[in-house]
Amino acid sequence: MSDHEHDHEDDEYDHEDDEQELAEASEHAARRHVALSVVRQYGDPVLRMRAGEVESFDGELAGLAERMVRLMHDADGIGLAANQIGILRRIFVFNDDGEDRVIVNPEITKSGNELETSEEGCLSLGSVRLPVERPLEITIEGRDVAGEPLQLGLEGLSARVAQHELDHLDGVLLIDRTDADSRRAALSQLRPRLRLS
Ligand code: ZN
Repeated sequence: MSDHEHDHEDDEYDHEDDEQELAEASEHAARRHVALSVVRQYGDPVLRMRAGEVESFDGELAGLAERMVRLMHDADGIGLAANQIGILRRIFVFNDDGEDRVIVNPEITKSGNELETSEEGCLSLGSVRLPVERPLEITIEGRDVAGEPLQLGLEGLSARVAQHELDHLDGVLLIDRTDADSRRAALSQLRPRLRLS
């Protein structure tokens, strides 16, 4: 093999590599776009409603959980509650330190005394990010998709995400949890979006 041919092959290889990366990136962007188009946005009344207890742990519920996990990943989210896709049932999915979790009929049974303020975003609030103070550690109890009792001790980001998602099931959004100035700023950012929809 001559140097020339070698270089040429390298060029071609890099080129194909770039093209593949580009194709993957645009496929990801397309999937994200589709996922976000099914996530209800601020102003949708379903985001302000309380979801009802899940009573049957059947195949339909398992299918819903799978769909929610897929949507969460496609949307680049770290949590998704059923209200956010227009389903008023008490189920949410979240990323717990790299692991996908599903929890049904969740309840916080213990909250640590230590509080932490950190910025949160929400798939239903566009690019809005707001500081929210929450307990750093919680114990959350509920059921898995098969109806078996589930208890999780969570801290840090996992605890924060679980509290954010549980809020959704009660119709509570992070604009309700932030300070007055941040809320005012967020609402002025969200209002023009409403006029467009
Ligand atoms: Zn949210």
